Amino acid sequence: MKAAQFEHHEPTTVDEAVSLLESLDEPTILAGGQSLVPMLRFRLARPDTVVDINGIDSLDYLHEDNGYLKMGALARHADVEDSEVVADHYGSLADAAPLIADPQIRNRGTVVGSMAQADPKGDWGSVLLAHDGEVVARGPAGERTIPADQLFLLPYDTSLGEDELITEARVPAPVDGEGSAYHKLKRKTGDYAMAGVAARVVLDDDRRIEEAGIGMTAVDITNARAPEAEDHLVGERPSADLFEEAGELAAEASNPESDEHGDAAYKERMVDVLTQRALGDAVERAGVVKRRVTQ
Ligand SMILES: Cc1cc2nc3c(=O)[nH]c(=O)nc-3n(C[C@H](O)[C@H](O)[C@H](O)COP(=O)(O)OP(=O)(O)OC[C@H]3O[C@@H](n4cnc5c(N)ncnc54)[C@H](O)[C@@H]3O)c2cc1C
Repeated sequence: MKAAQFEHHEPTTVDEAVSLLESLDEPTILAGGQSLVPMLRFRLARPDTVVDINGIDSLDYLHEDNGYLKMGALARHADVEDSEVVADHYGSLADAAPLIADPQIRNRGTVVGSMAQADPKGDWGSVLLAHDGEVVARGPAGERTIPADQLFLLPYDTSLGEDELITEARVPAPVDGEGSAYHKLKRKTGDYAMAGVAARVVLDDDRRIEEAGIGMTAVDITNARAPEAEDHLVGERPSADLFEEAGELAAEASNPESDEHGDAAYKERMVDVLTQRALGDAVERAGVVKRRVTQ
């Protein structure tokens, strides 16, 4: 099936895009098109106007700046996969990027588009939740920052206003003793997650866990945190027993549905296992990542 007819706008600046979003009737933003274009083709989305942001060069960046790893709205999954700074210092992002879909989709799809799509099976949402990440939104009233844990409301629904554009997704740069990891279970290459878990820990000088973040994929109506598991880890020394307890708490916090890929009990068990694995890798990496001064 072909997409229904729509008007196509190609702004070259963020200001231009925002004024189009304000003036047009129910416009839809097009970034990588890897979620939107299939919806257009199957006529699950029938927008009258599409605002294509691919010509806004100022949104095409991925770099560390002012204490954050910043990914502009045109940073593709493949940019994260290819980034040296990510490979060296952001374990969970380095793990997640090559596990997303297939190379074609990773070359076009964007991290920000994935956040805006708010698919509970999306991987970036969990990673940003585990890192206390946020997105930056621009609208007619100016710029605001939305913490990742306030972005996702329902499947495919966010707290973003209709006339707002996400310009950036970002995570805090790692501090001394920080490590992170992402583990994902999928049936085969190219598939979405059956379950996924991102974990981030910060160890203090005494090797106790000072901070912990856990984000879960595909096991609730949105990407979700596991707050009881996070709290349970803080103040404790990493151990296999502790990770087992955290895994059980994360599984209890999850709320998966049975489907053709597996029943809910199996997915809960997978959350338990993936949490333990992600925590193990995060702690191992916590000894390697050093505080870095970012400009
Ligand atoms: C076969 C297949 C497998 C996939 N597997 C995975 C997977 O394993 N893991 C995973 O995480 N994802 C997966 N995806 C989704 C893919 O990662 C998409 O790239 C991503 O969800 C959306 O990014 P995009 O840049 O393509 O956004 P688009 O498709 O262009 O847009 C998606 C939605 O976000 C909105 N939007 C886009 N950019 C902005 C912005 N800057 N501000 C506000 N709204 C915006 C659009 O209006 C639209 O509603 C898969 C997709 C396909 C087709």
